[in-house]
Order: sequence, then C-alpha cells, then structure tokens
Amino acid sequence: MNHQTDGDFVTDVYPTLSEEERVRVDLAAAYHLIEHFQMSDSIYTHISASVPGDNEYFLINPYGTRFGEVKASQLVMIDVDGKIIDDPCNMGANPAGFTIHSAIHQARTDLKCALHTHTVAGVSVSSLQTGILPINQWALQFYHGVSRHKYEGIALNLEERERLVKDLGPSNKILILDNHGLMTMGKNVGEAFTLMFNLERVCKVQMSVLASGQPVNPIDSSVCDLTYEQYLQFAELSQRDGFHVEWLAYLRLLEKVSPSYKE
Ligand SMILES: [Zn+2]
Repeated sequence: MNHQTDGDFVTDVYPTLSEEERVRVDLAAAYHLIEHFQMSDSIYTHISASVPGDNEYFLINPYGTRFGEVKASQLVMIDVDGKIIDDPCNMGANPAGFTIHSAIHQARTDLKCALHTHTVAGVSVSSLQTGILPINQWALQFYHGVSRHKYEGIALNLEERERLVKDLGPSNKILILDNHGLMTMGKNVGEAFTLMFNLERVCKVQMSVLASGQPVNPIDSSVCDLTYEQYLQFAELSQRDGFHVEWLAYLRLLEKVSPSYKE
C-alpha cells in the first residue's frame, strides 16, 4: 500500500490508516508473524479477517502464497461463500480452506479474525483426549473458554459448518480441531494472533512435560480459576491509545525482520 515513508511506520503511520487499511496491515502482519515463529504449514491453513462495513466480506491470503510473502495490498477479498470480490494478483483463494473460517465469521459476528494452524505441538495436543492440561501458569490462560470439534475428515463438507459452530459455542475464542490442529479467534487480528502465540507455547510445554514421563505438580482448581481470571483482567489493562501494546510490539518486530507485510 502507498504509505508515507517519513517517520516510524508503527508509531506515526499505522494510527492514521483507515479501518480497512489497518485490518489489511494487521492481517498481513499476522501471516508474517506466524511464519516468523515457525507456525506455518507450507501454503496451507489460513488467517481470515472481516472487512469493516456492512458487506459480509473477508480478507484472506492469495492461494499458493507462503505466509511470509503476503502483502496487505494483495489480500483477496471474498464473500461468505468464498466467491471472489477482489483479487489483485489473480491467484484466487482456497475455498476448501475457507470452509471453517466462513462458518465462524457467519455465526460469530463478534469475532473479526479467525486464525488456524497445523503445528507439531498443536496437532499433538489436538490428538490427546485430555486436551490442554492445567499444569503451568501459561496453560491456565486456557483453563476455561476452550471448545473442541470432533474430526470429520478434511473440512470440505459445508454441513460440517453447523456442527463446528455449535461446538465453538456463543462466547469461546479457542477451538481445538481434534486430530487436526488449532484455531484462535479475536475481536481483532492482534487478539487472535496473541492467543495463538500463547496457545502454541502451551502445547509445546505440555508435550515436553509428557515426554519427560516425570510426575507433574498438581495445581488446585481454585488457583486455576484465579489465574484464569487474572489473565482476563490483564488483557483489559494492556490497551494504550486504542492499541494493544503487545500487538504494537509485534509490528515493531516485523519492521526489523519482515517489513514487506505492509506493502
Ligand atoms: Zn487445517
């Protein structure tokens, strides 16, 4: 996109962008961050975001791009059925990849971004009957609010969307796709990414602890509840001038390691 180049992008330019421009920059940033933190799966899995306004349009990566190649101005705009509205690179979108995302965007209009990954740690935990174990501080962020959806094969069947939405429920933002991978959602791209970053780390620790085969310190359920509530309160305190300070920190990281996201 044509941003002014004077000054610092994150501090000076980002706050002045239109709503749609900011969603585009945020979404492209999330793709680059998922690649940077080694959570991508070749050209598969997707991150989608709602276009601000009355149209039920969504942005997603051009089909066939690696996450680190995604640029804000080249995102594909599609409707809820996956029909292309705007495709600057003429690369199309992956309709199969959008099945899960469209279900969530249609049913939960409070959620503006849906982020899906296949990682070794995430797929491992999704394959465990126990799900996420409450065995350390990081994991207690996910002590409540996590839904699960039983595996039905590669998600091409539109009928699966109803079951998936029912499993997600009216308020949760985390969905473990059994034997498949992870999904996080948020009121904006930053929230969905931050949840995924934390969830991925929890899955890595859990598999590491299980691999040790050693006895695990139990945590009282009352302490699990308390810590979960503390995480919720902390998230509310981390806003500055309408921006989440952690998301701005991630954008500054990209300015150093992968600045092409905002083009
Ligand atoms: Zn998947």
